[in-house]
Amino acid sequence: MSSKQLEQFLTENLEDLKGKGLYNVIDPLQSANGPMITINGKSLINLSSNNYLGLATDSRLKKAAAEAVERYGVGAGAVRTINGTLDIHLELEEKLAKFKQTEAAIAYQSGFNCNMAAISAVMDKNDAILSDELNHASIIDGCRLSRAKIIRFNHSDMKDLRAKAKEAKESGQYNKIMVITDGVFSMDGDIAKLPEIVEIAEEFDLITYVDDAHGSGVLGKGAGTVKHFGLSDRIDFQIGTLSKAIGVVGGYVAGKRDLIDWLKVRSRPFLFSTALTPADVAASIKAIELLTASSELNERLWDNADYLKEGLQKLGFDIGNSETPITPCIIGDEVKTQEFSKRLNEKGVYAKSIVFPTVPKGTGRVRNMPSAAHTKAMLDEALAIYETVGKEMGVIQ
Ligand SMILES: *Cc1c(COP(=O)(O)O)cnc(C)c1O
Repeated sequence: MSSKQLEQFLTENLEDLKGKGLYNVIDPLQSANGPMITINGKSLINLSSNNYLGLATDSRLKKAAAEAVERYGVGAGAVRTINGTLDIHLELEEKLAKFKQTEAAIAYQSGFNCNMAAISAVMDKNDAILSDELNHASIIDGCRLSRAKIIRFNHSDMKDLRAKAKEAKESGQYNKIMVITDGVFSMDGDIAKLPEIVEIAEEFDLITYVDDAHGSGVLGKGAGTVKHFGLSDRIDFQIGTLSKAIGVVGGYVAGKRDLIDWLKVRSRPFLFSTALTPADVAASIKAIELLTASSELNERLWDNADYLKEGLQKLGFDIGNSETPITPCIIGDEVKTQEFSKRLNEKGVYAKSIVFPTVPKGTGRVRNMPSAAHTKAMLDEALAIYETVGKEMGVIQ
């Protein structure tokens, strides 16, 4: 018998969400998450994944994963510090450090885990963290876990950051102060103002932490936002994910050797959660090798992104201020945005609507994620469908 309290809690809250239209129904894929996907037996142009470079289905990564399964099996068998560290975990970490131009790197089971791990390994209740108001949920949770004082600054507002950094420093209340930001913000596709953040950090002796989940593989010819700005030796923590452009699953922190050594003895997801599987590690190594050897996939990604953006703009859509391949198509009204996405889906384009409270009220958008794996024919087809739905719904003329 289940608890009455729990039953009541779940019934009330589920009904509430469903009543507000906020209950998310998940569509399972009957195919790989490539440029085309199959949902409910229907083939759709996929503009929703974070598989920026198409590596999730790359034959070279699949081969590397299969070989690793043959050699090491399907599981690492233990946490990293007992005997779950395989030689390939170390090889991956060395390759990541080289790729990020840092002294060392440490791999985790996900990008989310990196933020659970790294922030609280260094920050505690006597510290303060200056956090961009639009930072990712895992950064917010990681900050909370550390029990440091969280001071939010207005999104990418350097005047506000500077004022709050000054105030925190001059208060003398905190042992350490950190500034933490996404490298690329996933809802609008804008880039953090890292050169100014670094200047402010150097002025007030702040620890710098950049979560570059959406920048790695995309900016800086693939090496990320920090590299894009030439700041590799001036950022303390560089977080990356292996789950987006790298196409696999996992995450990493890159930085100075001492920092990584500390995380290996003090970060809890490293100490208390089983290591990345051999297949994930081998596929990630292959991806990093491919990105280091050639910028071809990166160039194709940008080429496709520019093509889609130009096409949508020519049709008359508002695509916001994105500086990256993330391409929002701003519709405005929440209900209209959801209807727009639904009609795209019916006609053959899978692009998700993102509405309040994820983005501010009245800025509902359909978010498009073009990739290196899309062909021009797929993008042309998607643009034709956008034109039809846009005219049908009076969003464009
Ligand atoms: C996606 C994302 C994560 C989570 O990464 P996973 O590897 O999927 O767990 C963390 N931080 C940011 C900024 C992200 O965009």
